[in-house]
Amino acid sequence: MTTNYQFIGGEWREGQSDDEIVVRDPADPAEPIGAFPGASGGQTADAIAAAKRASTQWGQTTPDTRDAVLYDVADRIEAELEDLAETISREEGKPISSSRGEVARTAEMFRYFAGYARRSTGDTVPSNDPETFTYTVREPLGVVALITPWNFPIGTPGWKLAPALATGNTVVFKPSSETPMIARRLVEILSAEGVPDGVVNLIVGAGSTVGDDLTTHEDVDGVSFTGSTEIGSHIGETVASRGIPIQTEMGGKNPLVVLPDADVESAADATIAGAFGGTGQACTATSRLIVHRDISRRVVDAVVERAESLTIGPGMEDPDMGPAVSADQDETNFEYVDLAQKEGATLRTGGDRPDGMESGYYIEPTVFTDVDPEMRVAQEEIFGPVLSVIEVADYDEALEVANDIDYGLSASVFTADMAKARDFVRSVEAGVIKVNGTTTGSDIQMPFGGMKASSSETHKELGQRAYKFYTHEKAVYRTDP
Ligand code: NAD
Repeated sequence: MTTNYQFIGGEWREGQSDDEIVVRDPADPAEPIGAFPGASGGQTADAIAAAKRASTQWGQTTPDTRDAVLYDVADRIEAELEDLAETISREEGKPISSSRGEVARTAEMFRYFAGYARRSTGDTVPSNDPETFTYTVREPLGVVALITPWNFPIGTPGWKLAPALATGNTVVFKPSSETPMIARRLVEILSAEGVPDGVVNLIVGAGSTVGDDLTTHEDVDGVSFTGSTEIGSHIGETVASRGIPIQTEMGGKNPLVVLPDADVESAADATIAGAFGGTGQACTATSRLIVHRDISRRVVDAVVERAESLTIGPGMEDPDMGPAVSADQDETNFEYVDLAQKEGATLRTGGDRPDGMESGYYIEPTVFTDVDPEMRVAQEEIFGPVLSVIEVADYDEALEVANDIDYGLSASVFTADMAKARDFVRSVEAGVIKVNGTTTGSDIQMPFGGMKASSSETHKELGQRAYKFYTHEKAVYRTDP
């Protein structure tokens, strides 16, 4: 099995740091499925230098050249869907049908953003001087650093790489060390389908070893990060002094609000999908169910009944819920189960490792009731399948609880009252809002990103204007001689 995970200037190389990256199947972590040395700071600098060397030529390719490459990448991702999906399920643990969905969506993203090679347009603007033509142009930033987490290990890289490349940037891509195999596969595909040497470089290494070398290097012209609020804030601070474009999309603690006139069955289905789909490891996961007391018993009973019927198992067996990604995340999940009980919440269901599943990082879908909004279990991102139910007396209290939190990524309200829904959309502090829908899930053509501690709010990702982050805008005044 290869130990060459660093892709620099078109060549696969072995890492040169003392860090060992060990890859495990979270359903069966005893035996590693891969191990290799992580990148060093020097290799990170080499990758940036390679990206810089390739930058002028790639930036000057015609849009039809870049879109053709990205369409080919999309086709190849689809052709290799099954193999890519298995790679994700083995190293990240998600159910194989979810992995297939993520791979298919990644191909869609490459296709969607391929079109932006031709559509990242400027404006023509009426001039005050009849002899002068005024217009704006968009140009690539140059070298961009793309840093991604493990929970959508091909999807998140895809939604950064595709617009970055479409608009003519070169890239140093640093994926999470939990999911290097799928990152390597994606870069192999990019290279095989015609992305020139040096245009995409892969650095796999511990964030503590290579992170600052990457984000603070003088030849990096933009940084797009997705991950925890802790690391995103650190990057925000270290990069801010350089004044380059930065985009950080971070954690969430997302509320789903249920009002008394809601459809109970739909609200329960959405809660289950949002809280336990992906083992609760989505930035948009439903982690707070804020429910009106008049309907609370019915909603909670429906949620608990559904939670108890979910199947749990290895991703490759396509259960409803796979294991947590890592030993660290597994420990965090059980720590919060203990903490919630110490804080006085009532464990309605779950909280244990399922019987006979001691060999993987499994936990039952867990629901706590009697949660006070100030408890840590209601305020902190757990990133596991642990749902806090908070009962409220009326709509105003529901809104207050929904907003009384550092995060602001996604939020949902279930109601038949469209006036209330309109008020919720206006008043809730979240970047993605659903009315009668799950807190998770988004369309590629819709902008995605949070508010407050969930996002730098500099530029949304996805959507029709994602290309703006990856481009400078220049205003041109051209006067006839
Ligand atoms: P993380 O913050 O630990 O790591 C994210 C990435 O940053 C990894 O590649 C990591 O190696 C790298 N990194 C670590 N230290 C660094 C440093 N000093 N400099 C540069 N890079 C560094 O997050 P994670 O555990 O991989 O992912 C889970 C988190 O991601 C959750 O908080 C989740 O909410 C968040 N997330 C957010 C979104 C979103 O769009 N808002 C989407 C998915 C996940």
